[in-house]
Amino acid sequence: MIDTGKSESIVIDGSEGEGGGQVLRSSLGLSMVSGRPIRMERIRAGRSKPGLMRQHLTALLAACEVCSAKVTGAEIGSTSLEFSPGNVRAGDYEFRVGTAGSATLVLQTILPALMLADGPSKVVVGGGTHNPWSPPFDFLSESYLPLVNRLGPNVSAQLKRFGFYPAGGGEIEVSITPSDLLSPFDIVERGARIDRSVTALVIDLPAEIGNRELNKAMRSLGWSDAEGESIHLENAGGPGNVLYLRCQFENLTTVITSFGRLGVSAETVAKDLVKDYRQYEKQEAVLDEHLCDQWMLPLAIAVAKTGRQAEFVTGPLSGHSKTHIELIKRFLPVEFEVIQEKTNLRVRCSSLRRIPS
Ligand code: ATP
Repeated sequence: MIDTGKSESIVIDGSEGEGGGQVLRSSLGLSMVSGRPIRMERIRAGRSKPGLMRQHLTALLAACEVCSAKVTGAEIGSTSLEFSPGNVRAGDYEFRVGTAGSATLVLQTILPALMLADGPSKVVVGGGTHNPWSPPFDFLSESYLPLVNRLGPNVSAQLKRFGFYPAGGGEIEVSITPSDLLSPFDIVERGARIDRSVTALVIDLPAEIGNRELNKAMRSLGWSDAEGESIHLENAGGPGNVLYLRCQFENLTTVITSFGRLGVSAETVAKDLVKDYRQYEKQEAVLDEHLCDQWMLPLAIAVAKTGRQAEFVTGPLSGHSKTHIELIKRFLPVEFEVIQEKTNLRVRCSSLRRIPS
């Protein structure tokens, strides 16, 4: 836990900033690691169906179980809640969203607490593993977790079953071994490129969809055939289709995804992927938009715990990132400085108090 020297409740207006589920999940995660109770009003007021949906309720109940919290307002549609965390317990946990709501986002809610816990944990989460508005499993395992692990803990994730939107029904299994010492670090360069690839994955749909996506993407990118792969599976948690591009650099791996959807041609799915990749290349960003907003939280925890500063380079800040900065600062004694550079931004996270070494 991080002793912030404060114990009074923090009141969160869920409509502020991005106004979606991230405000709720991150508030829960930060409440658990700081021990500060929260009262939240106007949950997801910025969304067309406000209040707790299944994914958010599962994340809330998961947080309650992990730290024996006292809670009010834990029901579908609830637009306000109170959450008072107890002691975080390492252990074996299983949570099920029950829809295509994101399993990876449920995991991210409790991961900060479990990576600071006093022993290892195993967490199984059932739900969506590949849905277009959340971190797909491949992003979690190849892009996000390797950075979290460089802070100190050892977190490994396995995909047990695919769960595509809208059917869901997927499952991930995650092992978390905390580390006594966290070490914040800078990611200001990508480093040399080690590998790159594009994968088209098609489940319980015609294989031709993936072949066309791959063909279009590889021709537009000008990459060699050996750098592309088309995978076709049956009876494996579909129907679903995702095209993803992976660039492994010395200092991080970037995963960009484009999902097949009804009424959109395979070629358009490929075009969307290439457009996002070109944008990332043009900005010379190190962390892409999604990794940026998600990285801020574990990084700030490591900074608050050690009193050391760390920075990273990214493109323009998304609404999620701006909201995250404001939210994290309410819980942890950290500051974020955003420095404009030639084609991108440098984000520096520093501690507001010195911790004796
Ligand atoms: P809602 O917007 O309905 O409240 P939500 O609970 O899913 O939904 P958001 O607040 O929108 O939550 O947060 C979504 C999170 O998923 C963000 O951290 C965002 O960066 C991440 N995300 C979305 N798409 C991708 C993607 N393609 N790759 C990686 N991460 C993604």
